[in-house]
Amino acid sequence: MRVLVLGGTVDGREVARALTEAGADVVTSVAGRTASARQGAPGMVTGGFGGADGLARWLAAERVDAVVDATHPFAARMSHNAAAACAQTGTPLLRFDRPGWANHPLAGTWTWADDHATAAQVAAGMAGAEGRVLLTVGRQPLEHYRALRHVLARVAEWPRDADGHGPTVPDGWTILEDRGPYAAAGERGLLAGERIAMLVTKDSGGAATAAKLDAAAELDVPVVVVRRPRGPEGVPVAHSIADAVAWVAGCARR
Ligand code: NAP
Repeated sequence: MRVLVLGGTVDGREVARALTEAGADVVTSVAGRTASARQGAPGMVTGGFGGADGLARWLAAERVDAVVDATHPFAARMSHNAAAACAQTGTPLLRFDRPGWANHPLAGTWTWADDHATAAQVAAGMAGAEGRVLLTVGRQPLEHYRALRHVLARVAEWPRDADGHGPTVPDGWTILEDRGPYAAAGERGLLAGERIAMLVTKDSGGAATAAKLDAAAELDVPVVVVRRPRGPEGVPVAHSIADAVAWVAGCARR
């Protein structure tokens, strides 16, 4: 059973490991946005497929029996490409989704925004001219927030050229490179030490990056959360590794 796992996430690594242990022949694919991902690993392809048609050709050429889309909940384009390519080739597709934070005990206290542009407008209104905003929305959406004056943007990796120069950021902005998992004490220290007036994040879900939400509540820091983009219609979804393994086993029996 040859399975393509679309990854770039901790979930992707865990799904791939579990499927391998269950006896599947697994190939993991990552976009290659970070230095560690670009280095690759055995059983990994990197750099993309060239859209839905490119992925469809790849699935046929590599004789893939099933695809598990374990990309980040905000990697919407890849999920839609996977749905289109699998429909084209008749390849079974499963979406692996970690639960979001909509049912978090504090969810009712946050301001929810449909997209980054809306979140940026809300943040500008709530933080005022002088309030410092902590952005944990990833690197690519930062352009939506450029009108904010005082920003600490935490990203997993900031790109640099051969001379060590990264993209310029507006005056008043600081980039903090760090990776989860984050603990509550550290998040409290960051919010208090950096005099953060509000937090803007996205509904990534999972436990690794959730501590900031409790820390913000403890310190009375308002929170804006960007809702997840819609995934493709009609794709079955698994919320646990065991369910993903069972789904692949079901495909093998067919
Ligand atoms: P995206 O906007 O959905 O995808 C843009 C393009 O990147 C896709 O069209 C595809 O290129 C390529 N791509 C994305 N994921 C891929 C994968 N797993 N394997 C091969 N190619 C992939 O994705 P994104 O938001 O830029 O995220 C890129 C990667 O980072 C994803 O793998 C995602 O799981 C991971 N990630 C994203 C976030 C986030 O907040 N967006 C956070 C953590 C990790 P082609 O059209 O050429 O195939």
